[in-house]
Amino acid sequence: MPPRARLTWTRTLGQLAAILGGAVVVGLLVGYPWPVVTIAALGIVAWHYARLHDVLSRLSAGARIRPPTGDGVWNELDRLLHRSQSDVRARKRRLIDMLRAYRAAAMALPDAVVVIERNSQRVQWFNPAGTSLLGLRYPRDVGAPLGERLQSMSMSRWLAAGRNAEPLLDTPSPVDANVRLSLRLIPYSDELWLLVARDVTKLMRLEHMRRDFVANVSHELRTPLTVVHGYLDLLDPADNPEWAPMLAEMQRQSQRMTQLVEDLLTLSRLEAQEGVVDDPVSMASMLATLRREAEALSQGRHLVLCEDLTVQTGLALDLRGSTKELHSAFSNLVSNAVRYTPAGGTITIRFAPEGAGAMLSVTDTGYGIPAAHLPRITERFYRVSTSRSRESGGTGLGLAIVKHVLQLHGARLSIRSEVGQGSTFACHFAADRVIPRDDPFDAPAEAESRHVPVPKP
Ligand code: ADP
Repeated sequence: MPPRARLTWTRTLGQLAAILGGAVVVGLLVGYPWPVVTIAALGIVAWHYARLHDVLSRLSAGARIRPPTGDGVWNELDRLLHRSQSDVRARKRRLIDMLRAYRAAAMALPDAVVVIERNSQRVQWFNPAGTSLLGLRYPRDVGAPLGERLQSMSMSRWLAAGRNAEPLLDTPSPVDANVRLSLRLIPYSDELWLLVARDVTKLMRLEHMRRDFVANVSHELRTPLTVVHGYLDLLDPADNPEWAPMLAEMQRQSQRMTQLVEDLLTLSRLEAQEGVVDDPVSMASMLATLRREAEALSQGRHLVLCEDLTVQTGLALDLRGSTKELHSAFSNLVSNAVRYTPAGGTITIRFAPEGAGAMLSVTDTGYGIPAAHLPRITERFYRVSTSRSRESGGTGLGLAIVKHVLQLHGARLSIRSEVGQGSTFACHFAADRVIPRDDPFDAPAEAESRHVPVPKP
């Protein structure tokens, strides 16, 4: 017990002893010691009860306890209560100040921040940007289901996917369709989610300008290149034998430029595309075409294997999507496998069931890719070895095209590679992109081939 409390107790017990002693003396003087002592004791008990009642009623009323002036146990109790009450109040004030500061920061954010209940998806709180970007109104929309308020179909469908929803990168604002928003859903507790909407209008406009610029430049380059290419084809090296090596080099470079322009145009078209056609894609024809292209490009330098495991497992499957675009993606993978595998290597094209979906993979026994390059390998013009890519006629855009085509089909590209051992590029398609083959014994036929692989120089 602290010294101050011990002193108070000693003093209170001393007062008690003094009162009872006084009562004994008075009792002896009047000749009734016990009744007087009893009355004194009852008086003390009554006083203590009165103080207890006083403290309880003040505490239950939540009244502020004033700092006591006297001493004694009751005053000591009041003093302790006053101290803890002051501590609690100070802590509460600090918390409120902190809360106000956080709220002010959230209010000042240019991004819309909406707190929603996880199960009901009802709005709990939103900042002023929630009004300007998402059209939420205070107090009307507090407690309202967010899906109903964000009328745009894509937004409510996206919200319905909940926790698994990938960030929605570009969607029109319900307030003004010219304002483009990027939305993210962040679960931050068991019951609450945070919806963050950012205005990406300027970013999208810049992206649009970049896309248009690339598309226009590529388009403008196409005609002069065709003319140059045409005239170069007309020149006969036999007329001027010393020009033959120069002519061959000019032809090779103009072909490379043509391929670059074609790839840039393909990428621009894919980027501008919102969805993809939903036609059945005959995989028997596709595999036959890929095999033929690999053999043509390899010119007998590699062993080309082609396996359709969906037939072998009795589950003959086809894909759904755009034959032209899927062919462009797969043939890029095949062309890479041939170009980055030294003579004598093996290229395996495999189509196989994968869970409820399917997978098309291209495996080679070539140079392989160091692990450090893998995260960036699908970026435009990213090359592991620029000289090797150029020598083999690469434009640096093949894998970017593959990534875009797969994205449009809701598919995913995975890459496994070991330097000196080879690489496997696999395209994984979900169940909704897979259909049973009409005729499981479909003979391999020719698929339309639009992407012409660059022949080896
Ligand atoms: P490129 O036209 O240069 O081949 P891509 O986008 O198709 O461009 O490929 C990017 C880079 O990835 C290539 O330059 C090459 O370094 C590497 N790469 C792609 N496929 C393979 C592969 N099968 N084996 C080894 N490296 C590869």
